[in-house]
Amino acid sequence: MDVTPILESLNDAQRQAVTAPAEPTLVIAGAGSGKTRVLVHRAAWLIDVEGVSPQGLLAVTFTNKAAAEMRGRIEALLDMPVNHLWIGTFHGLAHRLLRRHWREAELPQNFQIIDSDDQLRLIKRLLKNLEIDDSRWVPREIQYFINAQKDEGLRPKHLDDDGDPNRRQMISFYKEYEEVCARGGLVDFAELLLRAHELWRDNPELLAHYQRRFQHLLVDEFQDTNAIQYAWLRLLAGKEGVPFVVGDDDQSIYRWRGARVEHIHQFQKDFPSTSVVKLEQNYRSTATILNAANAVIANNNSRMGKNLWTDGADGEAIKMYAAYNERDESDFVIGRLRDWIDHGNVRADAAILYRSNAQSRVLEESLINAGIPYRVYGGLRFFERAEIKDALAYLRLIANRDDDSSFERVVNRPTRGIGARTVESMRAYARANSCAMWRAAGAIASDTLTSRSANSVLAFLNLIERMARETSGLDLQDQVDHVIHASGLVDYFKKDKGEKGETRVENLLELVSAAKSFEPDPAEEMSPLDEFLSHAALESGEGQADAWEDCVQLMTMHSAKGLEFPLVFMCGMEDGLFPHQRSIADPNGLEEERRLCYVGITRAKETLYVTFAEQRRLHGMDNFSQPSRFIAEIPDEYVEEIRPRVQVSRPMGRASGLSRRQSSIAPGDDIGIRLGQRVRHGKFGHGVILNCEGQGAHARVEVNFETAGTKWLVLSYANLDLM
Ligand code: ATP
Ligand code: MG
Repeated sequence: MDVTPILESLNDAQRQAVTAPAEPTLVIAGAGSGKTRVLVHRAAWLIDVEGVSPQGLLAVTFTNKAAAEMRGRIEALLDMPVNHLWIGTFHGLAHRLLRRHWREAELPQNFQIIDSDDQLRLIKRLLKNLEIDDSRWVPREIQYFINAQKDEGLRPKHLDDDGDPNRRQMISFYKEYEEVCARGGLVDFAELLLRAHELWRDNPELLAHYQRRFQHLLVDEFQDTNAIQYAWLRLLAGKEGVPFVVGDDDQSIYRWRGARVEHIHQFQKDFPSTSVVKLEQNYRSTATILNAANAVIANNNSRMGKNLWTDGADGEAIKMYAAYNERDESDFVIGRLRDWIDHGNVRADAAILYRSNAQSRVLEESLINAGIPYRVYGGLRFFERAEIKDALAYLRLIANRDDDSSFERVVNRPTRGIGARTVESMRAYARANSCAMWRAAGAIASDTLTSRSANSVLAFLNLIERMARETSGLDLQDQVDHVIHASGLVDYFKKDKGEKGETRVENLLELVSAAKSFEPDPAEEMSPLDEFLSHAALESGEGQADAWEDCVQLMTMHSAKGLEFPLVFMCGMEDGLFPHQRSIADPNGLEEERRLCYVGITRAKETLYVTFAEQRRLHGMDNFSQPSRFIAEIPDEYVEEIRPRVQVSRPMGRASGLSRRQSSIAPGDDIGIRLGQRVRHGKFGHGVILNCEGQGAHARVEVNFETAGTKWLVLSYANLDLM
């Protein structure tokens, strides 16, 4: 075989890594230095040159999207399809194992995955059942506690309350929660990993089988593995396995979810024969962008330290825009985006990044108004929309009658006369008899309920049984199609006049298309429906909807990890938002935020905008903030400040000491109006100028009037008095 294509377009250090002997290898390198590329080439090299069977490789990526991409790239390098190659996220791979070995894992064959929303709902229900005040015991905190224990590999029996009554209560919630999950055959995300680990730990023969099979373990984004993931890898590697891991300590951004960058050091202790390869040349970004990123991350103390350079061009300056408020910010972003698209660029090459999910709403509104297609990664996701979850709940109930969370979700949706009290008595029965809601419903319908409620409940049970009969043997697509109609969901949302109902019906129909284009993996040993439902739960984080359309990408900085785009906007660069308020006072937290900023900057290949707003309404509150300290950490020479369309007062921020300079707009005549200026209108009374646009006779201002609310006025007609 000709080996050159695989080593072509790799630099010396990359080549060294790709062709490393079959020994533990750690590639540690900065952003854009080709780590992921090395991993892809390593896989191809092993298969093509070292003669390793694709079955002998296990590759772990951070998202399902990255997994699909990696498979595609390996196939392109080898110029042939590679079936039987296991590539996936830790969660995806763990899930596959549990499906294959459900008996050894002590799970029911038709176990269902619940996402974090379902999990939270389940915890809320549990508190209700226990008659516990959920203001004293916050469901989210319980959820966090449970997941954190699982991430560390700990079951309730491993936990000690240390005499702390709070902790004792948490542990007991964890225990209750486990029982509920076991009863319903429900598996949350953290449980996937923990179970998969226990599966191997407690079944040495099974482990030995997989150790023999997977000699080569390739792991991307290694810096963000948590304890249970690392333990799982170590088990699999055993004494003979060859782990090949790549990562960047400066991009460790999931500490809050249990990730431990210390694994980079631990790895070298656990595998003493590890050879370490460093990659130092960045191929992604212009020198300006790279230098800015390097300057920002240099402010962190806890770093392994590395030297990242590029021989590429300097490129354009980083553009900074100080917006007056979040709307001005999003108008600016959309304006620039539109110019860029008008110049013939592909929309998918542009990304808008933000710190917090909630920021997307305003940006989305502007994009919709501008008619620019976009996709949100990790925000309002297709599989998480209420109507989609309703339809999935019906499907899940058909697959598994014991799935209590699905049962409760749809028992009275569409409304069918099953009231809260009836549901409550089902719960009580289920609790008393340790059985699923399904059985409880049957029991109380023939026993305790009034005949009217009993009829409604029986009708529901019959409906599910009938749908199960009618869909058995159908194609996945026809199953989904049948269920959305037979369940009454489509009619229910059709009655909901207006756009919302319409969108919901469209989404339901979209689910049929999703089922249609869903390709079951021949390697999975489960029914297409089960596989589709697992897929829906696992992929809900990755915005698969409308994947074919060319659209602008919106995502949090966290979700942007590993990706790259010619054009990047980093929005909401304000202290308190980014770095996040709760991290500012904590040095470790602040360093993690800075790493996140480093991740954000290094996503950009050619053009980077950073924007911030003086005033921002978020989560229903108005905040006045200073520009992010991270902006001030970018040396001036790399930054160009964008002037607003009309001259208005802007925080001049940045390295200049974050001072403000006031100036006035001059629409036509210099009438001296500035943002924040108090004014009085003959009819609307007193107000404050929020925004302005246009020039001369077209200049308009947005004023927030104390009693009349916010209004846009044409300056030349408004006759505003300056106060
Ligand atoms: P991150 O830390 O962000 O995950 P990374 O280290 O994984 O980045 P890659 O995504 O593998 O980096 O590579 C960054 C970009 O540089 C990609 O577009 C890749 O194709 C390109 N690249 C990497 N190495 C080379 C090379 N030797 N020659 C040309 N292009 C390269
Ligand atoms: Mg990468």
